[in-house]
Amino acid sequence: MTTRSTASSALVLFSGGQDSATCLAWALDRYERVETVGFDYGQRHSVELQARQDVRAAMAKLHGGERLGEDFVIDLTGYGAIADSALTADRAIEMEASGLPSTFVPGRNLVFLTVASALAYRRGHGVLVGGMCETDYSGYPDCRRTTIDAMQSALSLGLDTGMAVETPLMHLDKAETWALAESLGGADLVEIIRTQTHTCYRGERGELHDWGYGCGTCPACELRAKGWQAWPGSVPA
Ligand code: ZN
Repeated sequence: MTTRSTASSALVLFSGGQDSATCLAWALDRYERVETVGFDYGQRHSVELQARQDVRAAMAKLHGGERLGEDFVIDLTGYGAIADSALTADRAIEMEASGLPSTFVPGRNLVFLTVASALAYRRGHGVLVGGMCETDYSGYPDCRRTTIDAMQSALSLGLDTGMAVETPLMHLDKAETWALAESLGGADLVEIIRTQTHTCYRGERGELHDWGYGCGTCPACELRAKGWQAWPGSVPA
């Protein structure tokens, strides 16, 4: 049965990457009950789906981890087939004539938020939490807060109930995202995010760098490494 939400619970869009793991910690700090949702849209790397289980298991043991509830993985491979990009098909990661990188999956956050809102409605959550960020990202138009604001309005109208979309990382750069993680969960949380989350577009997890696992050369790895190095807390004591 559905019970309508109070702001005491939230559904976190959780991919197993650095950003969504930080969002999960943020939600566990604020809401009494937190559930997670992930989407399988035919990513080339099932390593991402494994990482989210590992991160969840590790974070459940931290302070606030008892608030972590169920996890849902929703099959969106039909959407992935439409959205064809360098993440879901065998294409090079490069800039395209549109000015967007080939990793841009058209409409991804619009689809994810719509599907997540249906799940949130059924599970009694009035809050969605997502790691969208417009600061030092690749300029994905569906990561902008103006897009999220419009989605929040559309979802709340279409569901006829308040459906807030919280984006705690929206105005943070990657170094500030590490700082947020530390402020939420100290060194233990930073270590979970550093070693368990997955960001690399190529699905590489062979070598542990100081900033985590990854190929080190794809745009996601470069951004992650740059953010780690810019964060004062990354300097070994
Ligand atoms: Zn990489």
